[in-house]
Amino acid sequence: MKAPPVFRFAPSPNGRLHLGHARSALLNAALAESAGGRLLLRIEDIDPVRSRPELIAALRDDLAWLGLRFSPPERRQSAHLETYRRQVDGFAARGLAYPCFCSRGTIAAAVAADTARSGQPAPRDPDGAPLYPGLCRHLPPGEAAARRAAGEPHTWRLDMARALAAAPGPHTITHVAVETVPREGAPAGEGRGPGYRIGPEHRETADPARWGDPVIARRDVPTSYHLAVVMDDADQGITHVVRGADLRASTDLHVLLQALIGVPAPRYHHHALVLDSSGEKLAKSRHSPSLADLRAAGESAAGIRRSLGFS
Ligand code: GLU
Repeated sequence: MKAPPVFRFAPSPNGRLHLGHARSALLNAALAESAGGRLLLRIEDIDPVRSRPELIAALRDDLAWLGLRFSPPERRQSAHLETYRRQVDGFAARGLAYPCFCSRGTIAAAVAADTARSGQPAPRDPDGAPLYPGLCRHLPPGEAAARRAAGEPHTWRLDMARALAAAPGPHTITHVAVETVPREGAPAGEGRGPGYRIGPEHRETADPARWGDPVIARRDVPTSYHLAVVMDDADQGITHVVRGADLRASTDLHVLLQALIGVPAPRYHHHALVLDSSGEKLAKSRHSPSLADLRAAGESAAGIRRSLGFS
């Protein structure tokens, strides 16, 4: 018998949850329910400065208030730093990752010099950052080792050319559609029947190279978002990753990392983002109201669920 699907909601506790988080969590819950699957909660707290314990407590509280229940165990990324570190070491031992000692200023200066020389705008990654110009890619191994031994701060970058040589692909992403299920017979406003289900799938070729040589371990943490998310989805047995369209481009890199690590790729659905009245994505920096603000202003959880298309 086929194992039941496993979904996850994976917030970063560096601010209060807003309506965009609520949509993602509610959609995952509805899909898990209609598929007879499980929904797991993962706290993506690798950032030691921005992740705060009171924000973790607050997000659990907000999710419970919305009526969401998660299957145990809850996973916290900060409890798995050694696992990520070992994977980075493994990539380095295979020649697929290198230490990068560049500061942001060094990178910006090199990019500016390249742009001046070529007269062409600097190539950028899907997040808009200039692609790393490769300054540390071919440091003599002795020099890199000596600088590390001297305690010089460094990130680790994936060597994209070598990674693609090791896992040539073609890399594909399996996307699944989400279908709405009419709730026949349920009087309007009643019942919590599943209103959404996983629909047909289609495959698309991924282009991981558009990320250049991405950082897979930061200076302060032995991982990055990309590495941790891929390892955790595999460790938690996630079969369906349902997340916002702002992470669509990251999936191109995630399928390459899955191939390099040797773990199965989940199926993906990237849902539309909740936008504010000026058409912008919700964000703390844009003062988007949090669920807590809405709750304090008298909104009910049922009202919020309904406004996002859930019963
Ligand atoms: N932690 C990420 C965020 O809050 C989501 C990661 C994911 O769903 O892959 O934006």
